[in-house]
Amino acid sequence: MDPLDALPGPATAPPTIAPSAFLAMLADGQPVVADGAMGTLLMAAGLTPGEAPESWNLRADTRDRVRAVHDAYIRAGARIVLTNTFGGSPVRLRTHGLADRSGELNRAAAGIAREAAGRHGIVAGSMGPLGELLAPFGTIEAHDARAAFAVQAKGLADGGVDAIWIETMASLEEATAAVDAVRQVAPGLPIVVTMTFDSHGRTMMGTTPAAAATTLSTLGVAAIGANCGNGPDEIETAIAAMRLAVPGAVLVAKGNAGVPRLEGGVPVWDMTPDGAGRHAVRVRALGAAVVGGCCGTTPAHIAAIADALGAPRRDAS
Ligand SMILES: [Zn+2]
Repeated sequence: MDPLDALPGPATAPPTIAPSAFLAMLADGQPVVADGAMGTLLMAAGLTPGEAPESWNLRADTRDRVRAVHDAYIRAGARIVLTNTFGGSPVRLRTHGLADRSGELNRAAAGIAREAAGRHGIVAGSMGPLGELLAPFGTIEAHDARAAFAVQAKGLADGGVDAIWIETMASLEEATAAVDAVRQVAPGLPIVVTMTFDSHGRTMMGTTPAAAATTLSTLGVAAIGANCGNGPDEIETAIAAMRLAVPGAVLVAKGNAGVPRLEGGVPVWDMTPDGAGRHAVRVRALGAAVVGGCCGTTPAHIAAIADALGAPRRDAS
């Protein structure tokens, strides 16, 4: 039997939250809490190394585990949840033999996140890097990159996301290709772009936070920021630099829970929920409007962030 025993995909659905409501939420000056890691929690739920996390959106026995991750973040106080589609472009899925199921995987993921968020949260469609460098550094041409991102964005839009969240980008050219693709297939959706400054304060391609902010702000996206990387200090430095470069930008901070150590082959993250709360207060003071987590963060970290920022928690009442 096909290991991906597909469920019927949701019908094409309009966003539940109007784009203007998402933009108003970002602009109203109150702190907005976003979710934390997806992959870390799916591994804890049985995802094996080498298995595509996105394939879990399609299987009846695993889709509920994806839903449970979203549920936990919503209960912890997240008002934005990201779909389980980080590696969901056809280029990235090729290594798993799933390239031709990109649209379906992304539609399904949007539906799962929508079920969890209901009318209480924003569903943002996660789009990570293609995993191949753009020419001339790599082999993929910009128009092929745009085409791949367009397949993914169309699936996410058809599944009913409220926004598109382009994350963990190292290359401004690739980020721009992704933005162009979203505009082409889902012109009404707000877009957020965050980059990863994990190479001595620059992206792997050498871009500084200030240069990233300057270029990304010209694209007219709803918010920009930093995610993943080497933990809270790095994210705080990046947010401060972005704020200085583009004072009016809506900034997003979604850092990792430190740098993982391997213990018995299992990654162990050092940042505690209390540490995440203290980081949230600092990064908010530096200018971040949206604070969440990336690799190694859990619902406990997000709950601590919500408490530290005075944001309401849905499990606290
Ligand atoms: Zn990460």
